[in-house]
Amino acid sequence: MRTLAFLLVVPYLLAQQLIDAHVHYNGDPAFLEKLVAKLEAVDGMAFLLTDPKDLESARGFIRKFPKRLVGFGQIRLDDPQALALVDRFHEAGFRGLGELSGPLKDFHDKSYERIYKRAEDYRMIILFHTGIVNRTNPEVPTDVSVDRMRVTTLDNIARRFPKLTLIGAHLGNPDYAWAAEIARWNPNIYFDLSGSTLIKKQEDLTFFKSIFWWSSVVSPHTPKSTTSAFEKVIFGSDVFNGELEEFDRELALYKRMLSACGVSAEAQANIFGGTLRRVLAAGQH
Ligand SMILES: [Zn+2]
Repeated sequence: MRTLAFLLVVPYLLAQQLIDAHVHYNGDPAFLEKLVAKLEAVDGMAFLLTDPKDLESARGFIRKFPKRLVGFGQIRLDDPQALALVDRFHEAGFRGLGELSGPLKDFHDKSYERIYKRAEDYRMIILFHTGIVNRTNPEVPTDVSVDRMRVTTLDNIARRFPKLTLIGAHLGNPDYAWAAEIARWNPNIYFDLSGSTLIKKQEDLTFFKSIFWWSSVVSPHTPKSTTSAFEKVIFGSDVFNGELEEFDRELALYKRMLSACGVSAEAQANIFGGTLRRVLAAGQH
């Protein structure tokens, strides 16, 4: 059995692929064709965020291209069927949940605990939307609040579910300092930098050195670490509505920022795939 487990883990560890943790499936199989072609071209893998109604069409592609696509189930925390959907996605081989967004209560509300527990039992990764969110139809009343998706709400979830890996999308925009601080103390939290942040900060990219400040610091006031503080960041493009061009734009912005901040090639290899490859391998069972 041990040999079998080892063989299953090997493909993740051997690969040096780029991993994009944040690609929304728009429900159009033609988009998946284009996405897979793109991923083949760059030797990449994407976490495909899939609405429950699109599970079947996504599943076929994920099975066909296991080196390219990893399924994530985009459930709604307030859906009465949420727990059953977690089971369904898990049974279909999906490795994570998200992007979770628009909750009616704060992310850390105790009533969502059973969903997080189930995900932890399945060793799923959860991608949470954090910070400011778009308002796509301003004329339609919607019960959405950024206050319920504050980045600090991830802290309590991470502490209560230590075997759950959390990815906060958008680095809590604009609560970057809070995002980095909770990632510093929670080994199971990472962030992507997708969205407007790298555009907003493009004239001030070294700003991020003040956010991820603890590289090589030895102090009882910060966890022992030999890695760059920037390794709390992972790559995510937030491609949505089929706009695959965002992948290249986001990749270029990440590279500009990391180079401006002097982040080593070794740390960048983890940011662009190494970290998530290890998380995926550890969660295989
Ligand atoms: Zn988002």
